[in-house]
Amino acid sequence: MRATNNPAADGFAWDGTPKNRRPPRALRVSPDSPTKLLRSGQTGRCTACGNRVEWYYRDSDRAVPLHPGELPTHLVPDDQRWHVLSGAARPTQDGSPWCRVHHHALCPATPNPGVPGLQEARRNLALNTRRLLDTGRFTPRQTPPATDPAQTPPRRPAVQLLHLLYLAPAPVDQITCVAQTRARHRCTQPLLAPRTTPGTWICIPTPATTGHLTAPSTPTVMAAYDLNQLPYAEQLRWRAQRCPTHAATPSAADTALTGREPFDTFVHHQHIHPQPFDTLHHAAGGHGLPEPPPRHPPPT
Ligand SMILES: [Zn+2]
Ligand SMILES: [Zn+2]
Repeated sequence: MRATNNPAADGFAWDGTPKNRRPPRALRVSPDSPTKLLRSGQTGRCTACGNRVEWYYRDSDRAVPLHPGELPTHLVPDDQRWHVLSGAARPTQDGSPWCRVHHHALCPATPNPGVPGLQEARRNLALNTRRLLDTGRFTPRQTPPATDPAQTPPRRPAVQLLHLLYLAPAPVDQITCVAQTRARHRCTQPLLAPRTTPGTWICIPTPATTGHLTAPSTPTVMAAYDLNQLPYAEQLRWRAQRCPTHAATPSAADTALTGREPFDTFVHHQHIHPQPFDTLHHAAGGHGLPEPPPRHPPPT
């Protein structure tokens, strides 16, 4: 009886609309969107507690890991409320009864600031961490010993771009395009593509830190890959982290975060070197990590 009355049996979908009558719907990135980052694939896990986070651009230079769920706004202190507007995270008030929070406000691996409204969510994450540990599905990240060269973080050069200083996500010749190809994969083309003008290595004074004392071993000058001399459009291409082809395709979405960070002398002290990366790289034989400069060894 039900089978004869089921419209799906007569070439109709479950809701009564004809099957295979509509052309497939094509989603496109709006040229005016503040971010071209696809939401799919932008989840990750906190390396300290194993809980899920969702990455959003805060602005064009920074990304923030937000807790995946929303919380009642009245439980969250004013200065810890986040909202997602047009795909980007904003630390603003929008009058909504629900808001997002930065994962660090709930991370059970960090000291508990004791915010009453966040205690229940924090407890739930702590329980989940315990479950993940007990079932062997999560191992907290171990801080590698500084003396083990195999565990030393990869070299990331400082890059000057649009008169700002950044820490690049990878050596300059290994930075790849973040755009999505027609086959829906991440583009593998390098930013330093053939027939494009490369930047130049320069030495700049190491920026002063704000609110922190600089380690005595920090070099007073540092090497940076300078892109300020490139045409404005080329600098925009480097900032968007797109190959020449995808820089000319604004409708293409991004599949990954750029990984670039505003340079901070205190946070990024291990990446400060007075010599250009490629010089050190070749001096070390083209493999492994270079020996530290004799007069200004990097801080450990
Ligand atoms: Zn965490
Ligand atoms: Zn590309």
